[in-house]
Amino acid sequence: MKSFSFVSLFVFPLLIQSQMINAQQTATTLDFPKTVIRELTSDEFSGRGYVDDGMGKAADYVATQFKEIGLKKIGDSYFQEFTMPINIIEDAELKINGKELKYGIDFLVRPNSKSQKYFKRDLYLFDPVKFSEALTSNQKLTEFIGEDMKAQHLKHIVFPPYQFEIDSIGSYYKDWPNFYRPDENRDRAIFFFTKDKLTASLSLEQDSISEFIVSDKFYSKDLKIDNYSIQANFVKDFKARNVIGKIEGENPDSLIVITAHYDHLGKVGNTIFRGASDNASGTAFLIELAKYFSNHKPKYSLVFIAFAAEEAGLVGSSWFVEHPMFPLSEIKFLLNFDIMGAGENGIQIVNSSIFTKEFELLNQINSEKKLTPQIKKRGEACNSDHCPFFMVGVPSFFTYTLGGPGYYHDPLDAADTLNLEGFLNLKELFIEFIEQL
Ligand SMILES: [Zn+2]
Repeated sequence: MKSFSFVSLFVFPLLIQSQMINAQQTATTLDFPKTVIRELTSDEFSGRGYVDDGMGKAADYVATQFKEIGLKKIGDSYFQEFTMPINIIEDAELKINGKELKYGIDFLVRPNSKSQKYFKRDLYLFDPVKFSEALTSNQKLTEFIGEDMKAQHLKHIVFPPYQFEIDSIGSYYKDWPNFYRPDENRDRAIFFFTKDKLTASLSLEQDSISEFIVSDKFYSKDLKIDNYSIQANFVKDFKARNVIGKIEGENPDSLIVITAHYDHLGKVGNTIFRGASDNASGTAFLIELAKYFSNHKPKYSLVFIAFAAEEAGLVGSSWFVEHPMFPLSEIKFLLNFDIMGAGENGIQIVNSSIFTKEFELLNQINSEKKLTPQIKKRGEACNSDHCPFFMVGVPSFFTYTLGGPGYYHDPLDAADTLNLEGFLNLKELFIEFIEQL
């Protein structure tokens, strides 16, 4: 509400007041979404990932909600099961210069790493200045590679934190550890120090590497690696489930599909990636919409899909598109919600510069009802579960909120740091949008 001008509040106080009463009527309270988010981010669900059946428990929870709301099954189950490969980092430890580092805050393990236990070796310090100079000519690069391959032999490799003036050199630097041969990596680890925010991710593969990504705070010239370990478990056929439910509309020939992924990054050792904003908030948002429309019969039929394994690379949604439970051509529009737990600075919508008619409708509703400070336009981006649908021609929006404390793919994205400021107004905005589509 910050961006509302005083002029409009002054000139139209009655209008605003009546809109707020209207907003309260449909929006009820935050009690229920808060319960859903607290539940999904609790220890019980282990970060909704690949250890302790966290994702499986979350799937059951979402299906129970669908059942209580009275959503219909498509077929004889709320679930669509699939298998996928995943490299599970089950535990990791790192002790540097006498200090035990905290996973997710002080360091991460590169997600394609293999298991390894501490092995005492000398350290080889990679030289980023020499490296960037070597990239200026083929001859220099060949020389650099020759020297590097010799110097790193039988040593742990340390990449010091370094800010390159050209971004592409920075990403080349990050990828350099891939050049070391598997047999060289057998009993040694790579320590990549960085000034970047630590952002965890997942990998569908396990490589020959054991790599730590470490905050630059722990880098020093007299670096000493006291201890480390990685426990990685590659599973080639991990079972995961999308959760699907339906509400029959007045006109059942067309579908509006509402999606949000319920999975997150899971748990490494004792560190839980709770994913409150990403995407317990979107899951709660989807359940709220389902609740509303189960009491207000929609114009078109609505299908609600809570996807699994988004964080591993849109695996659940890609599976659904390849194995659809209804013809995808019946989808009139798809709304994907991922990161709905902020909104004090409005929302941004991927694909809004493509589906301009729908974007205008949304803006028109918002300018009448003043539900969110801004709706920012964005083109296509393959960054959430709308993407596999969009790629096969399904018209779609992906909405995420702007604002919040900026915790993302780290242990700080938890229920107590989530403010849900825009949640109820955004719920009303999208209810209106779905009704007017
Ligand atoms: Zn997400």
